[in-house]
Amino acid sequence: MILVIKNDITQQQYNHILEKIKELGFIPHISKGVKKTIIGLIGEQAEKYKEIFEAMDGVEHISEIEKPFKLASREFKEENSVIKINDKVEIGGKKIVVIAGPCAVESKEQIFKISQELKKSGADLIRGGAYKPRTSPYTFQGMGEEGLKLLKEVKDTLGIGVVTEVMSIDQIEKVADCADILQIGARNVQNFDLLKEVGKIRKPILLKRGMATTIKEWLMSAEYIMSEGNYNVILCERGIRTFEDSTRFTLDLNAIPVVKSLSHLPIIVDPSHGIGIRNFVPTMAKAAIVAGADGIIVEVHHKPEEALSDGPQSILPQQFDQLMKDLRKLVEVIGRNI
Ligand code: PEP
Ligand code: MN
Repeated sequence: MILVIKNDITQQQYNHILEKIKELGFIPHISKGVKKTIIGLIGEQAEKYKEIFEAMDGVEHISEIEKPFKLASREFKEENSVIKINDKVEIGGKKIVVIAGPCAVESKEQIFKISQELKKSGADLIRGGAYKPRTSPYTFQGMGEEGLKLLKEVKDTLGIGVVTEVMSIDQIEKVADCADILQIGARNVQNFDLLKEVGKIRKPILLKRGMATTIKEWLMSAEYIMSEGNYNVILCERGIRTFEDSTRFTLDLNAIPVVKSLSHLPIIVDPSHGIGIRNFVPTMAKAAIVAGADGIIVEVHHKPEEALSDGPQSILPQQFDQLMKDLRKLVEVIGRNI
């Protein structure tokens, strides 16, 4: 249930509404838009109190959000959400955000070499996994805390923000301490306990789509995070599983306009996992931007043949540099910037 607030409400009336909500045992979820302010009361019991709120001064009207996701829906917030990452970067505005880096942090030399090159080419943020969700338990599982330390060093030395994955609840504090964005990987998209826990912090969360989750299920996962108070959710399409076996996954670019119509949350695209083939990654990255994505996250490695994970889909730094040049031309056509 959402309360649409009158434009000329007094502070006293507004406070009174918030107090009432809390008194009844709800958390008020507030969306302050340019045109209107909405207060969401989320929970199965909320409707019971409809008449109380209808009678309160300052409430223009009350409506139901029909969709199963509430806080993530366009009904709750009409304008696009722009998520502030750090002093330099925000996602969801006019500017396309480019996140790039290796699949995994492998050594100090590797992460520094790649990050320096990517920064020079114009990446906004560096990605790199310290905890890796691998299909086989016998393959490289990531450097763990050592990897996080290296990412912190990259951030402090090069002055560029970092994105890294959190796989379990006990890693949240450590990862949040170093990362500007915490990534929830495809395999954890419905790990509801983990989603609830990252909902309790306020750092931005990059929520990847699962390889077999529908758009609605994915938005329900975003809702889990938001329902705990963390509205800083960025969605990431990374390919779904279909009958097609010529590519690693099937990058579902349909998801971009569909998500944009259903939700105010920003959406970025990961063409690396989506197609899984190095030389096709730049094409799909460009396609994603034309389709309306707010950014991309791309895997880059200076020696992909030696990479400890996802080498075949990692582009070379020079390919990344060319991609940035192409994107600079492309964004002019679609009225955005980079
Ligand atoms: C990754 O970003 O390296 C990764 C494992 O992604 P996904 O969760 O989309 O498979
Ligand atoms: Mn990877």
